[in-house]
Amino acid sequence: MKATRQTKQRQAVLEVLRGTRTHPDAAWIFQEVRRALPNISLGTVYRALDTLAQDGVIATIERAGERTRYDYKHADHHHVVCRGCHAIFDVDLGASAALRPHDALLPAGFRVTDVVLEFHGLCADCQAREETARSA
Ligand SMILES: [Zn+2]
Ligand SMILES: [Zn+2]
Repeated sequence: MKATRQTKQRQAVLEVLRGTRTHPDAAWIFQEVRRALPNISLGTVYRALDTLAQDGVIATIERAGERTRYDYKHADHHHVVCRGCHAIFDVDLGASAALRPHDALLPAGFRVTDVVLEFHGLCADCQAREETARSA
């Protein structure tokens, strides 16, 4: 990981992401960063997020039809996504090296740098909601 070009804004954005496990979108991050830097603009927050993502410090979670969510790379972890409320939970499966496919299965010369694994389902709250809806 190359050294991140730190600016005050970028540092503040990073601190917000480091302090949360909710996988927020840019609007939420903007609100939080403004507590520390009241004059920061949404555009600056987006640029900071872009740079941090390019530097590999944070991960972006993109899904069709949804706003991009951001995640501090808290160590190797994967995501459990609720299809009801779109909550994203972290799941730690240990070293993702174990999940890497055998070289023979990859295109020739391909070098894996990242593993993205998502489990989809329903969280306990959404299951309870579905049960209630069904019995109503
Ligand atoms: Zn849910
Ligand atoms: Zn995460």
